[in-house]
Amino acid sequence: MEDWGAKGRALLALPRDNPRLMRAQYGALSRQLPLMYFILLVNTWALVATHLALAPASLTLVVPTVLTAVGASRSVFWWRQRGKLLDDTSIYKVLLRTCLLAFPVAAGFTCWALLLYPYGDEYAKVHVAFYMAITVIACIFSMMHLRRAALISAVVVNSAFIVFFISTGIPVFVACAVNIFLVSVAMLLILQDHYRNFTRLIAERARSELLSDENLRLAHQDSLTGLPNRRQFFSALDQALARARGDGTRLAVGILDLDGFKPVNDLYGHGIGDRLLMLVGQRLAPLLDEHAQLARLGGDEFALIIERVASDRQLHEVGQAFCQVLGAPFSLTDMPVQIGASLGMATFPDRASDAEQIFEFADYALYQSKRSQRGSVTVFSERHHAQLQRENLTEQALRRADLNQELAVVFQPIIDIASGRTVAFEALGRWHSPVLGQVPPGQFIPVAERTGMINQLTIPLLRKALATAQQWPTHVRVSFNLSARDCGSLQAAQAIADCIVASGFDPARLDLEITETAVMQDMQQAQLAIGVFRALGCGVSLDDFGTGYSSLSQLHALALTKLKVDRSFVSGIQHNPASFKIVKSLLALTHDMQLDCIVEGVETEPELQALASLGARLVQGYYFAKPMPAEASLAWLANPGGPVPTTWVQVR
Ligand code: C2E
Ligand code: CA
Ligand code: CA
Repeated sequence: MEDWGAKGRALLALPRDNPRLMRAQYGALSRQLPLMYFILLVNTWALVATHLALAPASLTLVVPTVLTAVGASRSVFWWRQRGKLLDDTSIYKVLLRTCLLAFPVAAGFTCWALLLYPYGDEYAKVHVAFYMAITVIACIFSMMHLRRAALISAVVVNSAFIVFFISTGIPVFVACAVNIFLVSVAMLLILQDHYRNFTRLIAERARSELLSDENLRLAHQDSLTGLPNRRQFFSALDQALARARGDGTRLAVGILDLDGFKPVNDLYGHGIGDRLLMLVGQRLAPLLDEHAQLARLGGDEFALIIERVASDRQLHEVGQAFCQVLGAPFSLTDMPVQIGASLGMATFPDRASDAEQIFEFADYALYQSKRSQRGSVTVFSERHHAQLQRENLTEQALRRADLNQELAVVFQPIIDIASGRTVAFEALGRWHSPVLGQVPPGQFIPVAERTGMINQLTIPLLRKALATAQQWPTHVRVSFNLSARDCGSLQAAQAIADCIVASGFDPARLDLEITETAVMQDMQQAQLAIGVFRALGCGVSLDDFGTGYSSLSQLHALALTKLKVDRSFVSGIQHNPASFKIVKSLLALTHDMQLDCIVEGVETEPELQALASLGARLVQGYYFAKPMPAEASLAWLANPGGPVPTTWVQVR
């Protein structure tokens, strides 16, 4: 019994705990109920028409008018509900009221129809039965989405119908009653089935909406760190820019790139690399507030949007905080892992005017941080703007240049101070552009690197350098500079090797210089490239040593033959104890590693003296000679240290 009671209650209950379903019911009813009342009232007045002359006015006019007033007002009410946005409680109330009205309305129309029965002939009586049977079917179908109202109406009308017409004892009506009973049962079963399908459909729709929400979230999220991804970053940037434009505030974009991530990945594997990236995200998160957003652009690159920025100084401080938290060691393996971060920032509206530009400028600022001082913050300034414009001009001219014609190589001697002899020359690239004039390598090499054109420059420069070196006595070596990209792929390294072989120059007399920063960009690739050069018989020097991030163990893994101590340690070494100590230990280090060591940038006698006292042997610098053209190198070898023709000075 209890079970049946519970079932009955469940059958009649409104799905209050399922607002989505109630909303769908409400939508369906607002479309269907006006139509239902229209049919009900038309059928009612058709019945009035056949009984107008037969029944008293109270039944043919008064009651139908009252019923019509009720029906019409409900019809108008539902008509007005179409497309309305109500809250869940209001929808519940509307549905509840509809259910509560189902009984009186159904009972009202039923009683009225049965009261008309005694009046009129058989045809009129059949009309009453037909009216009740057909109208209730239309009503049940129209209210299908609100099971409770449909059930109440069906039960009220059909039970009255069955009881009443069986009691007439007239066989046709008894048959009709049986008929209606069976139809009612079928309809209730269909109703139940339909309602269940409807509920399921709504639940499925909810599930698929949830799923597409989830997909949307995944499409905007970086799966590793849980941070917004590149796509989400750009849409957040558009929104933040719109806000900044709207309230006239300043906005900054920062691009943060990890220093030393790649070696960790290479050394410990991708699993540890991934964990490191996750930890980076976790360390940066506490620095964010409602004005700062963080995203992962991909790889080891992260991006920041900082709104309501006051001064560049404040921005610098914020940026430094981000770099600093990443400077502390990470405990990932049994050994603490140390990385760093460089950050480039640009601001709107004072520097950049749109999303694309602010990102480009921030990226440029990052590039400056990476090049000049890793681990630092660079805020894109007017100076950078001018520099960027100059680089863009350089890039355009470089793209149009006839490289074979316009490039030249000059040579700077490398001296053995023990013997005073020139043991080698470093080949240095020069570009004479018909548009820009003489462009220093410090300007065009970085542009060629950034735009991926460097490989096209390297080959003609190398060919020219080797052609000149071919003319020197065989004990004089040549040293040639490679850029990061030249040893960033096996293909590029192979092209260089092919060029050396084709030149016919003895590879054993050639040293290839690779900067420490280039090596650190991709240790594995650098190792492969160095392998190719060493297999050919060339020497490989590590250039600008002391300016990068390499650790001794990493250098040990590379098949190097020489280190070149950076100029910055030499300048004023005689009265700089720190430089003195550094050079001293670098000399000891190269000695231990059985590498040759060249000290660059010797400009004065006291510097040379200091270096000599430390035991340096191979030196290079303006003190001996500035870089000189090819023909001058021959003259130099014939008469080292002799007077330098004025034309040599110009080409430095
Ligand atoms: P680097 O490889 O460190 O070359 C040494 C630079 O220092 C040269 O500048 C040279 O002229 C200069 N230098 C030499 N002695 C002294 C000195 O005593 N004092 C001072 N202040 N400077 C000295 P340069 O020729 O302007 O080249 C600049 C940089 O451009 C080079 O630095 C190298 O990194 C790059 N570079 C030059 N030629 C090439 C090339 O053919 N290919 C590539 N990839 N890079 C090149
Ligand atoms: Ca060099
Ligand atoms: Ca150097």
